[in-house]
Amino acid sequence: MGTKGREIVDMDVQEVLNLLNRAFADEWLAYYQYWLGAKVAKGPMKEAIIAELLEHATDELRHADMVANRILQLGGMPVTKPESWYEMTNCGYEAPEDPNVLELLKQNIKGEQCAISVYKRMMEATKDVDPVTYNMALEILQDEVEHEEDLEALEEDIGLMLKRG
Ligand code: FE
Ligand code: FE
Ligand code: MG
Repeated sequence: MGTKGREIVDMDVQEVLNLLNRAFADEWLAYYQYWLGAKVAKGPMKEAIIAELLEHATDELRHADMVANRILQLGGMPVTKPESWYEMTNCGYEAPEDPNVLELLKQNIKGEQCAISVYKRMMEATKDVDPVTYNMALEILQDEVEHEEDLEALEEDIGLMLKRG
């Protein structure tokens, strides 16, 4: 990264890189969880849910790209091996073994709630000391908040539909 760009980071760069790489692992696992979930989904409102899951998969992959770019800017290296995703992850991975849309929504809502905490913490750690990472975390946080809301709204719709029978 540029000399001045690094100079304005007023905290331990290794600490920022560690936060970023953990989030990077989360994003790849979230991407795969959504992508595979969209492939196997079965149940009420399947079409709408698959479309939403695919849209979120695309967003998570874009987040991985944003985080990787920031890691490289800071002179770090994005996690090179997928096997490290499991060691680094904050939010883990919930295998979509049950294709029921309600179960998929539940798993992904949990993931989004974890992601919201991760980026909130990243913002707290970088506030006033690394404005570029802070701003990136805010942009991603806005998406994760929207993701959670989208999934909860779908879950609610299915609930209402099933109640009517
Ligand atoms: Fe994300
Ligand atoms: Fe998300
Ligand atoms: Mg959405």
